[in-house]
Amino acid sequence: MKRICSLSIMTVLCISTAYAKPPENISDVVSAAIAYHDSGAYQRDFADVVGQAQQWIKEQAGKVIKPAIVLDIDETTLSNWEELRANQFAYFPDGTCDHLPQGPCGVLSWERSGRSSAFPPMKALIDEAQRLNVSVFFVTGRHENERIITSDNLKKSGISHWDGLILRPMNSYTSAASYKAPVRASLEQKGYTIIANIGDQASDLAGGHAMKSFLLPNPFYRIP
Ligand SMILES: [Mg+2]
Repeated sequence: MKRICSLSIMTVLCISTAYAKPPENISDVVSAAIAYHDSGAYQRDFADVVGQAQQWIKEQAGKVIKPAIVLDIDETTLSNWEELRANQFAYFPDGTCDHLPQGPCGVLSWERSGRSSAFPPMKALIDEAQRLNVSVFFVTGRHENERIITSDNLKKSGISHWDGLILRPMNSYTSAASYKAPVRASLEQKGYTIIANIGDQASDLAGGHAMKSFLLPNPFYRIP
């Protein structure tokens, strides 16, 4: 039992608590995540990582056989900020998404609406990689039934060409880490050298099969 007391003119107020230190209040965490985005710090941190990756790709592109990069999609290539903000970072897979900027916004409805936007630094990285004849592969945790809407959303956001879009088979629900690493291994077996693997989750990068991995900031959700 812990006692917190304050003294006012009239009385001494004590609030007794039965715990030592609870986790951070969820409302404060949500506010901090929104402030991280709205202050521009998120975009700066994101651009810093992309800049490092871009420099690395420039240095390595001419040194290896069949150079390639692997990119995740959500919060790596495409931003879902409107949906994330509306839902205050909760995950609602089903339901409509008809009341933005208010939530709730069903994630599948949001993705099917094709309103995700490309991160400008990542689009620039893709453009430069392609100028350097580096193959670009998207490896996403989205399932195969979202192939057309994902492809259309990429094109709508200005990304018109890629060498592979690899989505999860419909019956796959393993961790992202155990799904994505074998995909990269299969690209290597086809002769590609993955010079950079870029994602917003540690699970995008776990398991190797890339010369160098780059982790983008994402304090908004975690995918194992
Ligand atoms: Mg992602």
